[in-house]
Amino acid sequence: LVSRENHAERTVVRVGGVPIGPGTMTLIAGPCAVETPEQTLAAAQMAKAAGATLLRGGAFKPRTSPYAFQGLGEAGLRILADVREETGMPVVTEVVDAHDVELVASYADMLQIGTRNAQNFALLQAAGEAGKPVMLKRGMSGTIEEWLMAAEYVAQRGNLDIVLCERGIRTFEKATRNTLDISAVPVAQRLSHLPVIVDPSHSGGSRGLVLPLTRAAIAVGADGVIIDVHPHPETALCDGPQALVDGDLRELAKVVRDLPPMV
Ligand code: PEP
Repeated sequence: LVSRENHAERTVVRVGGVPIGPGTMTLIAGPCAVETPEQTLAAAQMAKAAGATLLRGGAFKPRTSPYAFQGLGEAGLRILADVREETGMPVVTEVVDAHDVELVASYADMLQIGTRNAQNFALLQAAGEAGKPVMLKRGMSGTIEEWLMAAEYVAQRGNLDIVLCERGIRTFEKATRNTLDISAVPVAQRLSHLPVIVDPSHSGGSRGLVLPLTRAAIAVGADGVIIDVHPHPETALCDGPQALVDGDLRELAKVVRDLPPMV
């Protein structure tokens, strides 16, 4: 279903009216985690002012340590819905458990499946039945074939509104949080008709790498990027070192606008 073999035209997925697909280079931005209404609104206003058209933000956070901030849960979803109301930006947010899919889908414009759940087949199937577009991150140790098969689980449940997101894979290299597999973008676009975006924030894991990796994403013809921003990264409860502040985001947005995609 997700293969390009029977589907020569590349798909455009619409999220609350915002297109992601060939020629779009959609800018998605927002906080890694929803912390407070003020922090989420400030991040969304930064994102919108820079030209981002979709708001990201995690209410359910899949953290490596059980002692780390796990997200605000439904309270965080309510904050995202309020901020959408205030800014008009459709919301992308993660769901980590099949039992929460209905709840998250009742607030979200696009469901995010994170790297740690890339082969959680029950979750993928539930997301496929939720009636909302799904952004599917590549598993950190997943091959491109496994990523596309994960998408197939969503598609099998009748939902072809799937956006693939390359977010870096685990390699021997320790200088970056993950290794951005930039070649995965054109490979996935060749094998599948689905849009492919890049997460330079979770790939590099540091603020200084977000712009260069975004340039790389544009150069290979990605259909969008998803960027962490925070009004005060030094106090962030999650992934502060990779969050952009206002000026950085405006610079990045200018690069996105000025460098035409190659496709
Ligand atoms: C995220 O985008 O908030 C996130 C946790 O990303 P990943 O699943 O790629 O680590």
